[in-house]
Amino acid sequence: MMTPLSMPTEKGLATATQPVPTLRRGACPSLTTPMQTGDGLLVRLRPARPGLAPAGYISIARLAAEHGNGLLEVTARGNLQLRGLKDETVAPLAAGLAAAGIDLNRGVAVETPALSGLDPDEIADATQLSAAIRQAIAGPLSMLRLAPKLSIVVDGGGRLNLADMVGDIRLDAVRRGESLFWRLSVGGDVRSGRPVAAVADRDALPALAVLLRVLSGMGTAARGRDLDAGALRVALGAMAVDVDFPAQPAFPPSPIGRHAIGTRSVLGVGLPYGATDAVTLERLMRGLAGLGATEIRLSPHRVLLVLGLSAGAVDAAASLAERAGFWTRADAPGNAIAVCAGAVGCASGTFDTKAVADQLVLRAPGLLDGSMIVHISGCAKGCAHPMPAVLALCGRMDGIGVVFGGRSEDSELATLSPETAGRAMEKLATLVREQRLKGETVRQAIERLGAGAIADIVRQGRQ
Ligand code: SF4
Repeated sequence: MMTPLSMPTEKGLATATQPVPTLRRGACPSLTTPMQTGDGLLVRLRPARPGLAPAGYISIARLAAEHGNGLLEVTARGNLQLRGLKDETVAPLAAGLAAAGIDLNRGVAVETPALSGLDPDEIADATQLSAAIRQAIAGPLSMLRLAPKLSIVVDGGGRLNLADMVGDIRLDAVRRGESLFWRLSVGGDVRSGRPVAAVADRDALPALAVLLRVLSGMGTAARGRDLDAGALRVALGAMAVDVDFPAQPAFPPSPIGRHAIGTRSVLGVGLPYGATDAVTLERLMRGLAGLGATEIRLSPHRVLLVLGLSAGAVDAAASLAERAGFWTRADAPGNAIAVCAGAVGCASGTFDTKAVADQLVLRAPGLLDGSMIVHISGCAKGCAHPMPAVLALCGRMDGIGVVFGGRSEDSELATLSPETAGRAMEKLATLVREQRLKGETVRQAIERLGAGAIADIVRQGRQ
Protein backbone atom coordinates (compact mmCIF):
# COMPACT_ATOMS: atom_id res chain seq x y z
CA MET A 1 0.00 0.00 0.00
CA MET A 2 1.24 3.50 -0.81
CA THR A 3 2.15 5.66 2.13
CA PRO A 4 2.00 9.43 1.95
CA LEU A 5 5.21 11.40 1.84
CA SER A 6 5.47 15.07 2.68
CA MET A 7 7.57 16.51 -0.01
CA PRO A 8 8.82 20.06 -0.43
CA THR A 9 8.04 21.74 -3.71
CA GLU A 10 8.32 25.23 -5.10
CA LYS A 11 5.06 26.00 -3.32
CA GLY A 12 5.83 24.30 -0.02
CA LEU A 13 4.49 20.95 1.08
CA ALA A 14 2.63 18.65 -1.19
CA THR A 15 1.67 15.04 -0.89
CA ALA A 16 3.63 12.51 -2.84
CA THR A 17 3.73 8.75 -2.79
CA GLN A 18 6.30 6.35 -1.36
CA PRO A 19 9.60 6.85 -3.20
CA VAL A 20 10.21 4.40 -5.99
CA PRO A 21 13.90 3.53 -6.27
CA THR A 22 15.14 3.37 -9.81
CA LEU A 23 18.17 1.82 -11.42
CA ARG A 24 17.44 3.35 -14.78
CA ARG A 25 20.25 5.49 -16.07
CA GLY A 26 17.85 7.75 -17.91
CA ALA A 27 15.91 8.62 -14.80
CA CYS A 28 16.72 11.58 -12.62
CA PRO A 29 17.11 10.68 -8.95
CA SER A 30 14.89 12.84 -6.75
CA LEU A 31 13.09 12.48 -3.46
CA THR A 32 10.22 10.72 -5.26
CA THR A 33 12.49 8.58 -7.46
CA PRO A 34 15.73 8.02 -5.56
CA MET A 35 18.34 6.02 -7.43
CA GLN A 36 19.65 2.71 -6.18
CA THR A 37 23.43 2.75 -6.02
CA GLY A 38 25.97 0.52 -4.41
CA ASP A 39 25.81 2.48 -1.14
CA GLY A 40 22.04 2.68 -0.89
CA LEU A 41 19.69 5.24 -2.32
CA LEU A 42 20.88 8.50 -3.83
CA VAL A 43 18.77 11.64 -4.08
CA ARG A 44 19.58 14.75 -6.09
CA LEU A 45 18.29 18.04 -4.73
CA ARG A 46 17.77 21.29 -6.61
CA PRO A 47 16.96 24.00 -4.06
CA ALA A 48 14.35 26.40 -5.40
CA ARG A 49 16.11 29.48 -4.09
CA PRO A 50 19.40 30.30 -5.80
CA GLY A 51 21.25 30.38 -2.51
CA LEU A 52 20.90 29.24 1.07
CA ALA A 53 22.33 30.73 4.25
CA PRO A 54 25.14 28.71 5.88
CA ALA A 55 22.52 27.52 8.40
CA GLY A 56 20.61 25.92 5.53
CA TYR A 57 23.63 23.85 4.55
CA ILE A 58 24.16 22.88 8.19
CA SER A 59 20.58 21.58 8.23
CA ILE A 60 21.21 19.61 5.04
CA ALA A 61 24.47 18.20 6.42
CA ARG A 62 22.75 17.00 9.57
CA LEU A 63 19.90 15.46 7.58
CA ALA A 64 22.45 13.71 5.33
CA ALA A 65 24.13 12.18 8.38
CA GLU A 66 20.85 11.28 10.07
CA HIS A 67 19.09 9.72 7.09
CA GLY A 68 21.94 8.77 4.75
CA ASN A 69 25.57 7.83 5.12
CA GLY A 70 26.66 11.46 5.54
CA LEU A 71 28.28 11.75 2.11
CA LEU A 72 27.27 14.82 0.10
CA GLU A 73 28.20 15.69 -3.44
CA VAL A 74 27.86 18.71 -5.70
CA THR A 75 27.51 17.52 -9.27
CA ALA A 76 29.07 18.87 -12.44
CA ARG A 77 25.76 20.64 -13.14
CA GLY A 78 25.61 22.17 -9.67
CA ASN A 79 23.06 19.91 -8.02
CA LEU A 80 23.36 18.58 -4.49
CA GLN A 81 23.37 14.82 -3.95
CA LEU A 82 22.89 12.90 -0.72
CA ARG A 83 23.99 9.27 -0.62
CA GLY A 84 23.39 6.16 1.42
CA LEU A 85 19.68 6.59 2.12
CA LYS A 86 17.27 3.72 2.73
CA ASP A 87 13.68 3.26 1.63
CA GLU A 88 12.48 4.18 5.09
CA THR A 89 14.70 7.27 5.46
CA VAL A 90 13.72 9.13 2.29
CA ALA A 91 10.39 10.37 3.69
CA PRO A 92 11.95 11.65 6.95
CA LEU A 93 14.61 13.40 4.86
CA ALA A 94 11.90 15.11 2.81
CA ALA A 95 10.09 16.15 5.98
CA GLY A 96 13.33 17.44 7.48
CA LEU A 97 14.07 19.55 4.43
CA ALA A 98 10.57 20.99 4.51
CA ALA A 99 10.87 21.75 8.23
CA ALA A 100 14.14 23.58 7.53
CA GLY A 101 12.35 25.70 4.92
CA ILE A 102 14.29 24.25 2.01
CA ASP A 103 11.99 24.10 -1.01
CA LEU A 104 13.08 22.12 -4.03
CA ASN A 105 12.54 22.40 -7.73
CA ARG A 106 11.16 19.29 -9.38
CA GLY A 107 10.62 18.04 -12.88
CA VAL A 108 12.43 19.41 -15.90
CA ALA A 109 15.73 21.01 -14.93
CA VAL A 110 15.85 24.69 -15.86
CA GLU A 111 19.43 25.84 -15.30
CA THR A 112 20.55 29.44 -14.87
CA PRO A 113 23.97 30.91 -14.03
CA ALA A 114 24.58 30.71 -10.29
CA LEU A 115 25.00 34.47 -9.96
CA SER A 116 22.02 35.47 -12.09
CA GLY A 117 20.59 38.77 -10.97
CA LEU A 118 23.77 39.73 -9.11
CA ASP A 119 26.28 40.15 -11.91
CA PRO A 120 26.31 43.63 -13.48
CA ASP A 121 28.08 42.14 -16.51
CA GLU A 122 25.29 39.71 -17.36
CA ILE A 123 23.30 40.36 -20.51
CA ALA A 124 20.00 39.53 -18.85
CA ASP A 125 18.79 38.25 -15.51
CA ALA A 126 17.90 34.68 -16.45
CA THR A 127 15.90 34.04 -13.30
CA GLN A 128 12.79 35.78 -14.65
CA LEU A 129 12.58 33.70 -17.81
CA SER A 130 13.51 30.50 -15.99
CA ALA A 131 10.74 31.08 -13.42
CA ALA A 132 8.25 31.63 -16.23
CA ILE A 133 9.42 28.40 -17.90
CA ARG A 134 9.01 26.40 -14.69
CA GLN A 135 5.53 27.83 -14.16
CA ALA A 136 4.54 27.02 -17.72
CA ILE A 137 5.82 23.44 -17.47
CA ALA A 138 4.00 22.96 -14.17
CA GLY A 139 0.85 24.63 -15.55
CA PRO A 140 -0.30 25.02 -19.15
CA LEU A 141 2.38 22.67 -20.52
CA SER A 142 2.02 20.04 -17.82
CA MET A 143 0.34 17.62 -20.24
CA LEU A 144 3.56 17.33 -22.28
CA ARG A 145 5.42 14.04 -22.09
CA LEU A 146 9.05 15.00 -21.68
CA ALA A 147 12.20 13.02 -20.92
CA PRO A 148 12.81 12.82 -17.15
CA LYS A 149 16.36 14.13 -17.58
CA LEU A 150 15.47 16.90 -20.00
CA SER A 151 17.40 20.07 -19.27
CA ILE A 152 16.80 23.62 -20.41
CA VAL A 153 19.70 26.04 -20.04
CA VAL A 154 18.74 29.72 -19.76
CA ASP A 155 22.02 31.60 -19.97
CA GLY A 156 21.87 35.32 -19.33
CA GLY A 157 25.65 35.59 -19.54
CA GLY A 158 27.92 37.16 -16.92
CA ARG A 159 31.28 36.06 -15.58
CA LEU A 160 30.15 32.61 -14.48
CA ASN A 161 27.85 31.98 -17.41
CA LEU A 162 26.70 28.55 -18.58
CA ALA A 163 28.29 28.59 -22.03
CA ASP A 164 29.96 25.22 -21.36
CA MET A 165 26.86 23.48 -20.02
CA VAL A 166 25.21 21.01 -22.35
CA GLY A 167 21.44 21.32 -22.51
CA ASP A 168 18.69 19.66 -24.50
CA ILE A 169 17.53 23.19 -25.25
CA ARG A 170 19.56 26.34 -24.72
CA LEU A 171 18.42 29.95 -24.62
CA ASP A 172 21.38 32.35 -24.75
CA ALA A 173 20.79 36.05 -24.17
CA VAL A 174 21.90 38.45 -26.90
CA ARG A 175 21.44 42.20 -26.65
CA ARG A 176 21.28 44.40 -29.72
CA GLY A 177 20.91 48.04 -28.77
CA GLU A 178 18.05 48.24 -26.30
CA SER A 179 16.52 44.98 -27.48
CA LEU A 180 16.97 41.62 -25.79
CA PHE A 181 16.88 38.41 -27.82
CA TRP A 182 17.34 34.76 -26.90
CA ARG A 183 19.20 32.46 -29.24
CA LEU A 184 17.63 28.99 -29.25
CA SER A 185 19.81 25.96 -29.88
CA VAL A 186 19.43 22.25 -29.21
CA GLY A 187 21.54 19.32 -28.10
CA GLY A 188 24.78 20.85 -26.86
CA ASP A 189 26.65 23.66 -25.18
CA VAL A 190 26.88 27.15 -26.65
CA ARG A 191 29.43 25.96 -29.20
CA SER A 192 28.24 22.48 -30.04
CA GLY A 193 24.48 23.03 -29.83
CA ARG A 194 22.70 23.23 -33.18
CA PRO A 195 21.27 26.75 -33.62
CA VAL A 196 17.55 27.03 -34.33
CA ALA A 197 16.90 30.79 -34.41
CA ALA A 198 16.88 33.86 -32.25
CA VAL A 199 13.61 35.13 -30.83
CA ALA A 200 12.63 38.42 -29.20
CA ASP A 201 12.44 38.41 -25.41
CA ARG A 202 8.61 38.48 -25.52
CA ASP A 203 8.61 35.37 -27.75
CA ALA A 204 11.08 33.30 -25.70
CA LEU A 205 8.46 31.35 -23.77
CA PRO A 206 6.08 30.74 -26.71
CA ALA A 207 9.03 29.66 -28.86
CA LEU A 208 10.26 27.27 -26.19
CA ALA A 209 6.74 25.86 -25.93
CA VAL A 210 6.90 25.04 -29.65
CA LEU A 211 10.12 23.06 -29.13
CA LEU A 212 8.74 21.28 -26.07
CA ARG A 213 5.60 20.26 -27.94
CA VAL A 214 7.71 18.79 -30.72
CA LEU A 215 9.76 16.85 -28.16
CA SER A 216 6.60 15.64 -26.44
CA GLY A 217 5.28 14.39 -29.75
CA MET A 218 8.43 12.30 -30.16
CA GLY A 219 7.92 10.51 -26.82
CA THR A 220 9.57 10.55 -23.42
CA ALA A 221 12.85 9.18 -24.72
CA ALA A 222 13.35 12.16 -27.05
CA ARG A 223 16.14 14.58 -26.19
CA GLY A 224 17.49 17.75 -27.70
CA ARG A 225 19.96 15.80 -29.84
CA ASP A 226 17.00 14.18 -31.64
CA LEU A 227 15.49 17.48 -32.76
CA ASP A 228 15.73 18.77 -36.32
CA ALA A 229 16.92 22.37 -35.95
CA GLY A 230 15.83 23.35 -39.47
CA ALA A 231 12.32 22.01 -39.01
CA LEU A 232 12.06 23.77 -35.66
CA ARG A 233 12.95 27.09 -37.25
CA VAL A 234 10.15 26.60 -39.73
CA ALA A 235 7.79 25.71 -36.88
CA LEU A 236 8.67 28.96 -35.11
CA GLY A 237 7.31 30.94 -38.05
CA ALA A 238 7.47 34.71 -37.61
CA MET A 239 9.01 34.37 -34.15
CA ALA A 240 12.32 33.28 -35.72
CA VAL A 241 14.69 36.15 -36.43
CA ASP A 242 18.37 36.37 -37.33
CA VAL A 243 20.71 37.94 -34.80
CA ASP A 244 24.50 37.86 -35.09
CA PHE A 245 26.10 35.59 -32.56
CA PRO A 246 29.82 35.00 -31.93
CA ALA A 247 31.06 32.10 -34.06
CA GLN A 248 33.17 30.71 -31.19
CA PRO A 249 31.72 32.04 -27.91
CA ALA A 250 34.07 32.00 -24.93
CA PHE A 251 33.63 29.51 -22.11
CA PRO A 252 33.55 30.88 -18.56
CA PRO A 253 36.52 30.63 -16.18
CA SER A 254 36.51 28.02 -13.46
CA PRO A 255 34.14 29.05 -10.67
CA ILE A 256 36.78 28.00 -8.14
CA GLY A 257 38.71 30.92 -6.62
CA ARG A 258 38.11 34.62 -6.07
CA HIS A 259 35.72 36.60 -8.24
CA ALA A 260 34.93 40.31 -8.25
CA ILE A 261 31.27 40.55 -9.25
CA GLY A 262 30.50 44.26 -9.35
CA THR A 263 31.27 45.41 -5.83
CA ARG A 264 30.90 41.90 -4.40
CA SER A 265 33.70 39.55 -3.46
CA VAL A 266 32.68 35.99 -4.25
CA LEU A 267 34.73 32.95 -3.29
CA GLY A 268 34.33 29.72 -5.21
CA VAL A 269 35.07 26.69 -3.02
CA GLY A 270 35.51 23.39 -4.84
CA LEU A 271 34.55 20.14 -3.18
CA PRO A 272 37.48 17.75 -3.42
CA TYR A 273 36.51 15.38 -6.24
CA GLY A 274 33.00 16.77 -5.90
CA ALA A 275 32.32 15.28 -2.47
CA THR A 276 32.51 15.97 1.23
CA ASP A 277 31.00 14.62 4.41
CA ALA A 278 28.45 16.07 6.77
CA VAL A 279 30.89 16.87 9.58
CA THR A 280 33.31 18.68 7.27
CA LEU A 281 30.54 20.61 5.54
CA GLU A 282 29.08 21.76 8.85
CA ARG A 283 32.52 22.86 10.03
CA LEU A 284 33.05 24.81 6.81
CA MET A 285 29.67 26.51 7.07
CA ARG A 286 30.19 27.51 10.69
CA GLY A 287 33.57 29.00 9.84
CA LEU A 288 32.25 30.87 6.80
CA ALA A 289 29.31 32.26 8.77
CA GLY A 290 31.77 33.49 11.40
CA LEU A 291 33.64 35.36 8.67
CA GLY A 292 30.50 37.09 7.44
CA ALA A 293 29.21 34.76 4.70
CA THR A 294 25.49 35.23 4.27
CA GLU A 295 24.64 33.04 1.31
CA ILE A 296 26.07 29.99 -0.43
CA ARG A 297 25.09 29.17 -4.01
CA LEU A 298 25.55 25.84 -5.77
CA SER A 299 27.57 26.17 -8.95
CA PRO A 300 28.38 23.88 -11.86
CA HIS A 301 31.78 22.19 -11.74
CA ARG A 302 31.16 20.95 -8.18
CA VAL A 303 31.58 24.31 -6.50
CA LEU A 304 30.00 26.32 -3.68
CA LEU A 305 29.97 30.09 -4.25
CA VAL A 306 30.30 32.01 -1.02
CA LEU A 307 28.62 35.44 -0.89
CA GLY A 308 28.53 38.15 1.75
CA LEU A 309 32.24 38.17 2.54
CA SER A 310 33.97 41.52 2.76
CA ALA A 311 37.00 41.91 0.51
CA GLY A 312 39.18 41.60 3.59
CA ALA A 313 37.54 38.35 4.69
CA VAL A 314 37.98 36.46 1.43
CA ASP A 315 41.56 35.35 2.13
CA ALA A 316 40.60 34.14 5.60
CA ALA A 317 37.66 32.23 4.12
CA ALA A 318 39.90 30.65 1.49
CA SER A 319 42.41 29.58 4.17
CA LEU A 320 39.61 28.13 6.26
CA ALA A 321 38.28 26.16 3.30
CA GLU A 322 41.77 24.90 2.34
CA ARG A 323 42.40 23.71 5.91
CA ALA A 324 39.13 21.78 5.74
CA GLY A 325 40.33 20.06 2.56
CA PHE A 326 38.37 22.09 0.00
CA TRP A 327 39.92 23.57 -3.13
CA THR A 328 40.10 27.33 -3.65
CA ARG A 329 42.46 27.50 -6.61
CA ALA A 330 41.23 27.08 -10.14
CA ASP A 331 44.48 25.37 -11.10
CA ALA A 332 44.23 22.62 -8.47
CA PRO A 333 45.10 19.53 -10.54
CA GLY A 334 42.25 17.54 -9.03
CA ASN A 335 39.78 19.85 -10.80
CA ALA A 336 40.60 18.01 -14.00
CA ILE A 337 39.48 14.64 -12.62
CA ALA A 338 35.89 13.41 -12.40
CA VAL A 339 35.66 10.75 -9.69
CA CYS A 340 32.74 8.77 -8.35
CA ALA A 341 32.36 7.40 -4.82
CA GLY A 342 34.19 4.18 -5.77
CA ALA A 343 34.64 1.16 -3.54
CA VAL A 344 34.90 3.25 -0.37
CA GLY A 345 31.41 4.69 -0.73
CA CYS A 346 29.62 2.42 -3.17
CA ALA A 347 29.17 -1.34 -3.19
CA SER A 348 29.34 -1.41 -6.99
CA GLY A 349 32.83 0.05 -6.97
CA THR A 350 35.68 -2.34 -7.69
CA PHE A 351 38.51 -0.08 -6.47
CA ASP A 352 39.24 2.99 -4.36
CA THR A 353 38.71 5.67 -7.00
CA LYS A 354 39.86 8.59 -4.85
CA ALA A 355 43.10 6.83 -3.95
CA VAL A 356 43.81 6.36 -7.67
CA ALA A 357 42.88 10.01 -8.28
CA ASP A 358 45.39 11.01 -5.59
CA GLN A 359 48.01 8.88 -7.37
CA LEU A 360 47.23 10.65 -10.62
CA VAL A 361 47.66 14.07 -8.97
CA LEU A 362 50.87 12.97 -7.30
CA ARG A 363 52.57 11.07 -10.13
CA ALA A 364 51.11 12.49 -13.32
CA PRO A 365 50.10 16.13 -12.72
CA GLY A 366 51.30 16.91 -16.24
CA LEU A 367 48.18 15.18 -17.59
CA LEU A 368 45.95 17.56 -15.64
CA ASP A 369 46.37 20.84 -17.53
CA GLY A 370 42.61 21.40 -17.60
CA SER A 371 42.27 20.71 -21.32
CA MET A 372 40.46 17.45 -20.62
CA ILE A 373 38.72 15.61 -17.81
CA VAL A 374 40.20 12.30 -16.69
CA HIS A 375 37.30 10.12 -15.63
CA ILE A 376 37.86 7.65 -12.80
CA SER A 377 34.88 5.37 -12.32
CA GLY A 378 34.42 2.57 -9.81
CA CYS A 379 32.38 0.54 -12.27
CA ALA A 380 31.03 0.68 -15.81
CA LYS A 381 28.07 2.85 -14.81
CA GLY A 382 30.08 6.07 -14.96
CA CYS A 383 28.04 8.17 -12.50
CA ALA A 384 30.60 11.00 -12.26
CA HIS A 385 30.93 11.65 -16.00
CA PRO A 386 28.25 10.05 -18.17
CA MET A 387 29.70 11.48 -21.39
CA PRO A 388 32.78 10.27 -23.27
CA ALA A 389 36.19 11.25 -21.85
CA VAL A 390 39.52 11.37 -23.63
CA LEU A 391 40.93 9.17 -20.88
CA ALA A 392 38.98 7.08 -18.38
CA LEU A 393 39.97 4.54 -15.74
CA CYS A 394 36.99 2.31 -15.12
CA GLY A 395 36.36 -0.55 -12.72
CA ARG A 396 36.20 -4.01 -14.29
CA MET A 397 35.91 -7.50 -12.83
CA ASP A 398 39.63 -8.04 -13.41
CA GLY A 399 41.03 -4.60 -12.63
CA ILE A 400 40.90 -1.03 -13.93
CA GLY A 401 40.14 -0.67 -17.63
CA VAL A 402 41.83 2.18 -19.51
CA VAL A 403 39.27 3.63 -21.94
CA PHE A 404 40.39 6.04 -24.64
CA GLY A 405 37.87 8.52 -26.00
CA GLY A 406 34.82 6.73 -24.69
CA ARG A 407 32.31 6.18 -21.93
CA SER A 408 33.00 4.11 -18.85
CA GLU A 409 31.24 1.06 -20.31
CA ASP A 410 33.21 1.12 -23.56
CA SER A 411 35.97 -1.36 -24.42
CA GLU A 412 39.26 -0.81 -22.67
CA LEU A 413 42.69 -0.58 -24.29
CA ALA A 414 44.37 -2.31 -21.39
CA THR A 415 43.71 -3.32 -17.81
CA LEU A 416 45.64 -2.10 -14.78
CA SER A 417 45.58 -2.91 -11.10
CA PRO A 418 45.09 -0.20 -8.43
CA GLU A 419 48.78 -0.68 -7.60
CA THR A 420 50.01 -0.11 -11.16
CA ALA A 421 47.59 2.65 -12.20
CA GLY A 422 49.75 5.45 -10.80
CA ARG A 423 52.89 4.16 -12.52
CA ALA A 424 51.10 3.71 -15.85
CA MET A 425 49.71 7.25 -15.72
CA GLU A 426 53.19 8.55 -14.84
CA LYS A 427 54.57 6.85 -17.95
CA LEU A 428 51.78 8.32 -20.05
CA ALA A 429 52.52 11.80 -18.64
CA THR A 430 56.19 11.36 -19.56
CA LEU A 431 55.27 10.29 -23.10
CA VAL A 432 52.99 13.31 -23.52
CA ARG A 433 55.67 15.67 -22.18
CA GLU A 434 58.27 14.28 -24.61
CA GLN A 435 56.00 14.12 -27.66
CA ARG A 436 53.92 17.25 -27.17
CA LEU A 437 54.18 19.81 -29.97
CA LYS A 438 54.61 23.49 -29.28
CA GLY A 439 51.29 25.05 -28.32
CA GLU A 440 49.51 21.70 -27.99
CA THR A 441 47.34 20.96 -24.99
CA VAL A 442 47.55 17.59 -23.27
CA ARG A 443 44.24 16.65 -24.83
CA GLN A 444 45.43 17.50 -28.33
CA ALA A 445 48.66 15.58 -27.76
CA ILE A 446 46.90 12.47 -26.49
CA GLU A 447 44.39 12.54 -29.32
CA ARG A 448 47.21 12.91 -31.85
CA LEU A 449 49.25 10.10 -30.32
CA GLY A 450 46.21 7.85 -30.60
CA ALA A 451 44.97 4.64 -29.05
CA GLY A 452 47.93 2.48 -30.13
CA ALA A 453 50.57 4.61 -28.43
CA ILE A 454 48.43 5.04 -25.32
CA ALA A 455 47.85 1.29 -25.05
CA ASP A 456 51.58 0.54 -25.45
CA ILE A 457 52.72 2.96 -22.78
CA VAL A 458 49.99 1.93 -20.35
CA ARG A 459 50.96 -1.74 -20.78
CA GLN A 460 54.60 -0.85 -20.06
CA GLY A 461 53.48 0.88 -16.87
CA ARG A 462 51.86 -2.25 -15.45
CA GLN A 463 55.00 -4.34 -15.71
S1 SF4 B 1 30.09 4.58 -11.14
FE1 SF4 B 1 30.89 4.74 -9.06
S2 SF4 B 1 29.25 5.61 -7.81
FE2 SF4 B 1 28.34 4.91 -9.75
S3 SF4 B 1 27.61 2.84 -9.28
FE3 SF4 B 1 29.71 2.63 -10.15
S4 SF4 B 1 31.07 2.64 -8.38
FE4 SF4 B 1 29.07 3.38 -7.67
